[in-house]
Amino acid sequence: MGTRQTRDVPRRSSTWLSVLITAALLAAVVAWHPAEQFAAVRRTIGLAGERALPAPALRPRGGTFAFVMTQPGSQDPVGWDPCEEIRYSVAPAGAPAGGRELIDRALARASSATGLSFDDVGDTERRPFPEGRRLFGPREPVVIGWGTADEYAELAGDVAGLGGAIAERGGAGRLRFVSGGVVLDIEAFTAAAVAQRPRVMEAIVLHELAHVVGLGHVSEPMELMFANNAGQIDFGIGDLEGLARLGSLPCGG
Ligand SMILES: [Zn+2]
Repeated sequence: MGTRQTRDVPRRSSTWLSVLITAALLAAVVAWHPAEQFAAVRRTIGLAGERALPAPALRPRGGTFAFVMTQPGSQDPVGWDPCEEIRYSVAPAGAPAGGRELIDRALARASSATGLSFDDVGDTERRPFPEGRRLFGPREPVVIGWGTADEYAELAGDVAGLGGAIAERGGAGRLRFVSGGVVLDIEAFTAAAVAQRPRVMEAIVLHELAHVVGLGHVSEPMELMFANNAGQIDFGIGDLEGLARLGSLPCGG
């Protein structure tokens, strides 16, 4: 176009919040695991699925929500097994002061809204969304970390974070999320931003975690999952219903 583009650093202005959560959604990919065999073993040795946390109450109140992935040929959402803890690791490289606390608080809120349990398996040097995926390897924990557009091209411009999950086909033929990741833009998550706007920055983490558990974007500005968030820092009523549904899926494959 002949114009010089200068958007190395997002502008911090009154519209800062309106652009922060224009977070691209990393497409979930489907890997086929030999999960049927594990399901058979579980049945043989008599392990009954039990939730670590109670299922959330389902109280539809007219909000707007969307699922990032649905079961093939149906409107049923793809989600995590609520009888298994979601294992995660934090990759601390590049984290601002106070960054870990944002993650901890957002995880607690995501857990509360879904009834899903998150299990911290320890910090890691692994990167969120490592290149490629192992089709038949062990299930990797969700990795939550920090990155730049040099490493994650999707973080270019005003995008402040990415979140997504990976599904596999379980024993009953249904898709289940088994891993995923969140990467938060180091340019947006400065120590000053975390100190001065902790609730806003926490909302970005929460938005990305909602992608990990299965919510997609909506066009309703009152929901946290509005792609171009304009000030919503808490879950809206549609977000909460979608999250409750994701946390109420049947246990097992
Ligand atoms: Zn998003």
